[in-house]
Amino acid sequence: MAEKKQFQAESKRLLDLMINSIYTHKEIFLRELISNASDAIDKLYYRSLTENLSDVDRNDLEISIEKAEDAKTLTITDNGIGMNKEELEENLGTIAKSGSLAFKEKMAEAEKQDEDVDIIGQFGVGFYSAFMVAKAVDVYSRKYGETQAYHWSSDASDGYVIEPCEYEGHGTKIVLTLKDDSEEEKYSEYLSTFEIERLISKYSDYIRYPIKMEVEES
Ligand code: ADP
Ligand code: MG
Repeated sequence: MAEKKQFQAESKRLLDLMINSIYTHKEIFLRELISNASDAIDKLYYRSLTENLSDVDRNDLEISIEKAEDAKTLTITDNGIGMNKEELEENLGTIAKSGSLAFKEKMAEAEKQDEDVDIIGQFGVGFYSAFMVAKAVDVYSRKYGETQAYHWSSDASDGYVIEPCEYEGHGTKIVLTLKDDSEEEKYSEYLSTFEIERLISKYSDYIRYPIKMEVEES
């Protein structure tokens, strides 16, 4: 069994904000994950140019989105640079990022003034925003040029685990196990193809790589 690690204190606070968010614009989680996927592809593409990597073809670089209604999962995959064990630990276990920090400060400010918090949408709150819509997040990743892949998993409340896994190719796959919309509605609106397409065109239109989604026959 892999050892369970706790989030660094600042991260934990941001996570708690996310989990308990009653914010109506939770939908920005998809923008954040797609932007991370795009950044990861940018990093690989940059390396391919500067290091003349012959096994990276610009035309193959893409983001894909897949849903499984029965399992209530939404999966975002990129074939970008990927993360090794240390990077998973560092990037997902702690808040290094200015966007998240700035957001946390704004949030604290708003809380002090007892304002209705309406700031999430304006900020790049990053990876943790996934926890607004997901009860569990599984990240599978293999860093370009490395052989071992790793699986990072968390249900937020209880820290995270990193363990070795299999992964074909390089890049990162993020599986969100979605929360139900409500006690009564045992469904997540983010499983709707229509809704996913709406979010992509609303927030991720500028992304320079193809965003592919398998659409079920009807
Ligand atoms: P930001 O994108 O603003 O740096 P995030 O919270 O969105 O902050 O992501 C934290 C870090 O995790 C990123 O900087 C990146 O290093 C890493 N990361 C997140 N998603 C991916 C991904 N799909 N591929 C590679 N690295 C990722
Ligand atoms: Mg980001």
